[in-house]
Amino acid sequence: MSGGSAAVVEFDAVSKTYPGGVTALQEVTFRIGRGELVGVVGPSGSGKSSMLHLMGSLDRPSSGRVLIDGHDVAKLSDREVSALRATRIGFVFQQFHLAVGVPVLDSVADGLLYAGVPLRLRRAEAAAALARVGLSHRVRHLPHQLSGGERQRVAVARAVVGEPSVLLADEPTGNLDSASGAAVLGLLRDLHASGTTVVIITHDREIAAGLPRRMEMRDGRLISDTERAATIGAPR
Ligand code: ADP
Ligand code: MG
Repeated sequence: MSGGSAAVVEFDAVSKTYPGGVTALQEVTFRIGRGELVGVVGPSGSGKSSMLHLMGSLDRPSSGRVLIDGHDVAKLSDREVSALRATRIGFVFQQFHLAVGVPVLDSVADGLLYAGVPLRLRRAEAAAALARVGLSHRVRHLPHQLSGGERQRVAVARAVVGEPSVLLADEPTGNLDSASGAAVLGLLRDLHASGTTVVIITHDREIAAGLPRRMEMRDGRLISDTERAATIGAPR
């Protein structure tokens, strides 16, 4: 591997062409280090979600290499990829994806199912994660009894309950009013401040402008990366 400590996510000339022939990503290369907070921006259709799916091992590249915590996804079995995803990656999507009729505490506790943690401990850790997102007073609620902002905070709690290596968020504020969106963004910033690596896709220029590193996509290509620019500007 090239020098320095292992990246949490590394893409090496990654391309993705979907069946049917749409090329969503072309030769994308970058490294995201531990503890970074990264914004991914670009117009609709530019390949942001495709990139996030590959970062999260939900999909495999057509060519190039994707490494997660130093593991080359192509060299793992489906089972190993599932294990990697379950233990090292947390996802937050625009649509909150909370199971209908399942109390908040159990939805979050389910984030630990794969880790083989016993139920009592799963619930205890879920309660702690919900406290972290400011929802201790809502643990017995069902998703339909919560506001959009609260649902997304539950989704964040579920994503981080297993202490993943990286939290991947695809337009996490896209379905929220501006106040709730700001609260969710604040939460992601808090998680970053306490050490979690966070990648946020957003079409919101204002949100993106406030993030320490921005990667910009256009037509499947990574056309700018403030980290790379900084590195070129100031070689170490
Ligand atoms: P963004 O998130 O930036 O809007 P996407 O990654 O969702 O972009 O999409 C990039 C391109 O790939 C688009 O042209 C889209 O239509 C296409 N695409 C995305 N997912 C699929 C898929 N599962 N099958 C075929 N084409 C897809
Ligand atoms: Mg998208």
